[in-house]
Amino acid sequence: MNKLTTGFVSFLALGLLWGALQLLPGPQDVLALTPTVSEAALPVCSPQVCLEGDWQQWIIVTPESTWTDEELAMLDGILTAVITSLNQQGLDGRTLLSGYRFRRQPGEYVTGHQGRIAVVNHDWQEITLSDAAFKRLHGFYIIHELGHVVDQRTNRQLSATFHAHIGSDLQNQATATGFWLNLPAENDLEEATADAFALLIMADYSPGYRPVFAFTPVTSDFEGIKAALAITLEAVAQP
Ligand SMILES: [Zn+2]
Repeated sequence: MNKLTTGFVSFLALGLLWGALQLLPGPQDVLALTPTVSEAALPVCSPQVCLEGDWQQWIIVTPESTWTDEELAMLDGILTAVITSLNQQGLDGRTLLSGYRFRRQPGEYVTGHQGRIAVVNHDWQEITLSDAAFKRLHGFYIIHELGHVVDQRTNRQLSATFHAHIGSDLQNQATATGFWLNLPAENDLEEATADAFALLIMADYSPGYRPVFAFTPVTSDFEGIKAALAITLEAVAQP
């Protein structure tokens, strides 16, 4: 090799080395893997919801389960409304819900649950929330899942009392006419109870908002459902 060729080969080698260095992860790439919300920088949580401001009792934070400040603010508002309503009816809202934690799953729907935007798992005491749980229906389904939690924690007394009060067909799991909102609740007593729970809480959390679904009957008695659920909570508080 003459001097010119050697110089060119060295130049080529340097270029290749530079190119390879560009492929190594830089500080920027490592930062991108850090959760949006870290334990050190969680936004303020109201004292009623978080004792000593501790968000970790309600949420799961992992590289997959990350939260935005807006989502946490919405959860804070929902938990505050639910706990306040339960307390007003003579129940201990915080105790009824505590132990359950929210998992944030990216994507429109919850994986493995076609068309569902929020799912509760009582064995793991976890509520999985997809993007749509925050974006749709003013958070109705987040409250709906908390309704399932209250039902579970009261040994299904919430559902039993509600349906006895409105006169549902318990044997056939058929919700009383006028007392269900979304189609799955027509023939599933627990679904109807969770919807009624969400509707009652919505009156506080998002006043004036009226959730209407594709198959909500025109005869659905929104005020009647709220009143029946309020009476149910009172009755469950004083067995
Ligand atoms: Zn449900």
